[in-house]
Amino acid sequence: MDWALQRRMMVSRQLRGRGIRDERVLAAMIEIPREDFVLEDSRAAAYSDEPLGIGFGQTISQPYMTALMVQCLELEGTETVLEVGSGCGYHAAVLGAVAARVITIELIPELAAMARENLANTGRIGNITVIAGDGSLGYPPEAPYDAISVAAAAAAVPRALIEQLKDRGRMVIPVGPYADQELRVVRKKGGAIDWHVAEYCRFVPLREAAPRLD
Ligand code: SAH
Repeated sequence: MDWALQRRMMVSRQLRGRGIRDERVLAAMIEIPREDFVLEDSRAAAYSDEPLGIGFGQTISQPYMTALMVQCLELEGTETVLEVGSGCGYHAAVLGAVAARVITIELIPELAAMARENLANTGRIGNITVIAGDGSLGYPPEAPYDAISVAAAAAAVPRALIEQLKDRGRMVIPVGPYADQELRVVRKKGGAIDWHVAEYCRFVPLREAAPRLD
């Protein structure tokens, strides 16, 4: 299997072809070996235009969705980013290639371990910290963040995540029920919040292990 060729084809057809323009995101996805993040059984399909199962009822997003989400954060290389929902660690690897530092938090301990292992095996763990835990309330010890990327769908944007964004920070988050979700890009500026819909999407639900008071 010529993985480098598959990666280049994926980037030109699925990403550039659909309007992904951030050259740093495209360069990261040409470099990162997606086949080393998916399950052994899915390796041959690593560059196909669809989400793939990663065990525990969870999925790695379609390459286009990962590219779009990272592009929406407008990262320049100096930022600290929080990711909620590490899964297999692929999205964190892309974030790590275009930002200074990534904290990624995963609720299912086995997946947190898988993400850590995949990132270490591919030499990408250097600026990435994987935490096993509930990220629906963010991760206060390292807050505030320049950007937040949420990989699971919430019923509404959690207030705790907005609070952990820096002023001028960006967050990308799928919102809504499974069959009817929108990918929102939320921006905090001078204490105000504005947002727009970047795409329609289907993500697994954001689970809330801890009861919420608000
Ligand atoms: N970005 C991942 C895809 C993640 S799928 C990748 O590249 O593979 C969404 C992940 O969010 C799942 O692994 C799921 O377990 C996790 N998740 C769901 N609710 C969560 C929560 N409250 N806190 C942390 N992770 C959560």
